[in-house]
Amino acid sequence: MYENMDKEYVLNTYPRNYVNFKQGKNATLFDDKGKDYIDFTSGIGVSSVGHGNARLADALSDQVHNLIHTSNLFLIEPQAKLAKKIAELSGFDVGTFFANSGAEANEGAIKLARMYGEKKFKNKRYKVITLEHSFHGRTITTVKATGQDSFHKSDFSPYPDGFSYNKDINDIYNSIDDETVAVMIELVQGEGGVEPFEKEEVQKLAAFLKSKEILLIVDEVQTGVFRSGEFLATNLYGIEPDIITLAKGLGGGVPIGAVLTIHKDIFEVGDHGSTFGGNFLSTRAGCEVLDILEGYKNSGELDESFIYFESKLQEIAKAYPALFEKVVGLGLMRGLRCFENVDLSTLINRAFDQGVLILKAGRNTLRLLPPLTISKEEIDEGFKRLDNAFKVLS
Ligand SMILES: *Cc1c(COP(=O)(O)O)cnc(C)c1O
Repeated sequence: MYENMDKEYVLNTYPRNYVNFKQGKNATLFDDKGKDYIDFTSGIGVSSVGHGNARLADALSDQVHNLIHTSNLFLIEPQAKLAKKIAELSGFDVGTFFANSGAEANEGAIKLARMYGEKKFKNKRYKVITLEHSFHGRTITTVKATGQDSFHKSDFSPYPDGFSYNKDINDIYNSIDDETVAVMIELVQGEGGVEPFEKEEVQKLAAFLKSKEILLIVDEVQTGVFRSGEFLATNLYGIEPDIITLAKGLGGGVPIGAVLTIHKDIFEVGDHGSTFGGNFLSTRAGCEVLDILEGYKNSGELDESFIYFESKLQEIAKAYPALFEKVVGLGLMRGLRCFENVDLSTLINRAFDQGVLILKAGRNTLRLLPPLTISKEEIDEGFKRLDNAFKVLS
């Protein structure tokens, strides 16, 4: 019934699975028939503190009973608190602008970079270099910033000027000219195959860009908020970017995006804005999520989960050498790189039938993004079900 309703009234932009989820508890989802699924997707990296998290629910309940929204024309207490918390956890002297999504955060980052280019230099600097396997969002500008050609449908043209792509980090140096204002990268390309870049090569690039006064924008929409094991993957890589964007995991499911920057003097009143961005609901969610995850990190539980998840992943990769080439990713942002002849959709569907949800990513990769609070029992059960799914196929 709802499947037909969806098909009739919702625009058909997603390859939808018509399972009807009704409830969730940490990394387990339940459908309308009572069947349970281990969730290795967390809503594409969003449900960072799991489903049905009681602390998040209580905080949100308290907030919605008092205030959801007033607008950015007035002080928003949880927004100020969240911005302070983000600065503390990042270890950088950053100011934050709040948006509602990853794409919007990246739009903000690009606007900030262009304004920086305008204010700091005599010649116009506006070009942004990104990478070929990148993903930065679905607005016209962030589609253009996304390096994957398949996203640049001519139907949406003309696109904004000033974006170019390089295959690898080491190719970026040759593409820089005196109009380049920024380089935007993910440290682990989520959609692009869950392949982390080498620390040394990122550090070298960061130092080079700094010496040339070219901004380094790190898109941490997927890698941020403890997904990598540190608050920011940037912390893991030991770099200090000029601009960092966050979204997915920050609100635990409540839409939020954030632009962090050490250049706090570029945007002035009126230069950028958002009606919903940073409202009481989303920033209260962000505060609670960060509190929960900080506690989880400090108690050592987060690191234990990473190590355990990794060991199970290595096990399954070894058990099916005909399917999997290698394990990729870091923290709880993981992938199984499949051989070219392996059909990802078949694997994902079989896994679904066995009651475990997984995602795909570029370069023929299965992607695993469980909630950061996933329990050992859920990890065990998830991998048992994956094993059942892959057994049928190999
Ligand atoms: C998901 C994602 C985005 C886009 O975020 P939306 O909230 O869907 O707009 C941008 N960059 C990266 C790295 C992402 O993973």
